[in-house]
Amino acid sequence: MGILMLDEVTWGDVDKLDRDRTIVFLPLSPIEEHGPHLPLGTDYYAARDVAEMAVRLISEKESAIDCLLVPPIPLGSTEMTMDFPGTISVCGETLARIVRDICSSFARHGFKYIVICNHHLDPVHVKALLEGVNRVVQEYDVKIIETVGRIFYSGMKTKQGIHLRNMGLKVSQEIHADATETSFIKYRYPRLLKGTYKELPSVRVDIRACTLKGMTTFKAMGADQGYIGSPAQATEELGRMHLEELAELTAELALKLYRNEALPEISKEMMAVIDSSIKLD
Ligand SMILES: [Zn+2]
Repeated sequence: MGILMLDEVTWGDVDKLDRDRTIVFLPLSPIEEHGPHLPLGTDYYAARDVAEMAVRLISEKESAIDCLLVPPIPLGSTEMTMDFPGTISVCGETLARIVRDICSSFARHGFKYIVICNHHLDPVHVKALLEGVNRVVQEYDVKIIETVGRIFYSGMKTKQGIHLRNMGLKVSQEIHADATETSFIKYRYPRLLKGTYKELPSVRVDIRACTLKGMTTFKAMGADQGYIGSPAQATEELGRMHLEELAELTAELALKLYRNEALPEISKEMMAVIDSSIKLD
């Protein structure tokens, strides 16, 4: 059957899927401010587009596998950017329950593989997704992964990271509505990019040092326009690379999950932070 869009098919179509050969893709990312130049839907669009591209890659490569694509969920924990209107933040515990409820719905229907396509790296958000996943896998025989935490918090070398360095930028300083995210919108949704991005000065924030000082929002940390990084350096080439590389890596992670192969893990250092200092409520 290839790719099924969950919202377009009937329950009977879903029921025909072989549970042992189907991967469910759940795009999930918040509506959140992305500086004075990018739309609030930046992460939401990226999660959706990466998921759509990843299922296409899988169906081209692996005709024996069916992909069930869930409509994107516009939710996330985003307290760090709540100083800016339009941002919608869901408490971590609520998000964990939503993830649990959605994934367990698929598990109750017998599905065995679920990939949560996420594009938001706020530690509370990532912790909530992991917590939601843990609750489901304890109850049902199902394998579930979240994607960008495993990609960006595992220390994995990426093409876009190398590209950023070649542009004279540091991955650790491109954090939010930065060169990469601005490039993504410039490449994919140019009509939604405000031309003033070219005049935005670089904003550098040492999030770890600011957090140790007790600061909890990007604005308090000095990002008074809601971006951290160098949006003025955005290029379509970097935007295309970001989308295509994330889609390729997501497809790879999904196939590893399906084949029971080793997956990249969030680094021990980051997991220690998530476990000890991040609260869900
Ligand atoms: Zn973002």
